[in-house]
Amino acid sequence: MAKIYTDSDADPSVLEDSTVAVVGYGNQGRAQALNLRDSGVNVVIGGLPDATLDQARDNGLPTMSVAEAAAAGDIICLLIPDDVQQPVYRNEILPHLSPGKALDFAHGYNVHYGFIAPPKEIDVIMVAPRMIGVGVRHAYTAGRGVPAFVAVQQDGSGKAWPKTLALARAMGGTRTGAIESTFAEETELDHFSEQFVWPAVFRVLVGAFDFLVEKGYQPEAALMELWVSGEAAEVLQRMAEVGIFQQMAFHSPTSQYGTLTRMERALPQETRECMEAALKDIRGGVFAEEWETERASGYPVFTRLRDQVLRHPVNGLEEAVRQLVRE
Ligand code: NDP
Repeated sequence: MAKIYTDSDADPSVLEDSTVAVVGYGNQGRAQALNLRDSGVNVVIGGLPDATLDQARDNGLPTMSVAEAAAAGDIICLLIPDDVQQPVYRNEILPHLSPGKALDFAHGYNVHYGFIAPPKEIDVIMVAPRMIGVGVRHAYTAGRGVPAFVAVQQDGSGKAWPKTLALARAMGGTRTGAIESTFAEETELDHFSEQFVWPAVFRVLVGAFDFLVEKGYQPEAALMELWVSGEAAEVLQRMAEVGIFQQMAFHSPTSQYGTLTRMERALPQETRECMEAALKDIRGGVFAEEWETERASGYPVFTRLRDQVLRHPVNGLEEAVRQLVRE
């Protein structure tokens, strides 16, 4: 059974005399920094000298360069995009890492694939919320928490776990429960969702839209049925709350019967081979190497594919159908 940590497992006094440097004030950086600050932690923000850093200052947080924050922080939370972490770490953080400091991540990617390998005297820890940043902040201010993965990759100080749990608690991550994991597990599970589950969902939904329009259904009606009404989002929410099959009770018997009798044939047996292929790329480092090459060459494939999906006819139509739902 997985180990789950709650508030009572974490000692907030561990952070009492510490400074937590949050590097990056984006999705996670902003949410985590504000939660830490509101939990009484001494927080500083490191970033580029631009409007983002101004926003942090306007939110009442001390701001400075990344290097200055790295020098000031006993715990340094690296909350900038994964694909830019390596050079920022090498040039601006590594020179300020002294024994006893901790480097915290919200995703295991760079450590797991060896792009960042801190000296062995450093604690390498992870508090990875299973939630987008706005959700992390919203839950905290509402008195709730969001589930998180916590892990220690390297325990240089001998106190890495108490630091990790205190940090998770101050972010609101142990209110509902933080699951003990590893950098490898968090990264591979996250990438499996991103590289198999969500592509499959997107393909099924957009493929169903294209198919239904081809068969003569009104595009607006098809979109409304598939995801724009918000019913799909409600179903996912109920899955999280009561269970994937338990939530079927909210649907009509006709719907339940249709789903249960057609579930097997909905996807071909070869789907499992697709899962194997996705996991092989993730575990073998093929994806990580490909993404690193993509970054180094200026994101040509990423840009082309993103432009391509944004040209799909659903993009214009979604807004029109959303208006119908709103009115
Ligand atoms: P964002 O894309 O929101 O990060 C943006 C921030 O990074 C901005 O403050 C930006 O500064 C700063 N930044 C970008 N490049 C640099 C640079 N070269 N030097 C200094 N600062 C820079 O990142 P996320 O919050 O999405 O992700 C942060 C981490 O959290 C990642 O490891 C991610 O995997 C993880 N994570 C993210 C989740 C999410 O909700 N998005 C969920 C769980 C984990 P500026 O605005 O000045 O350019």
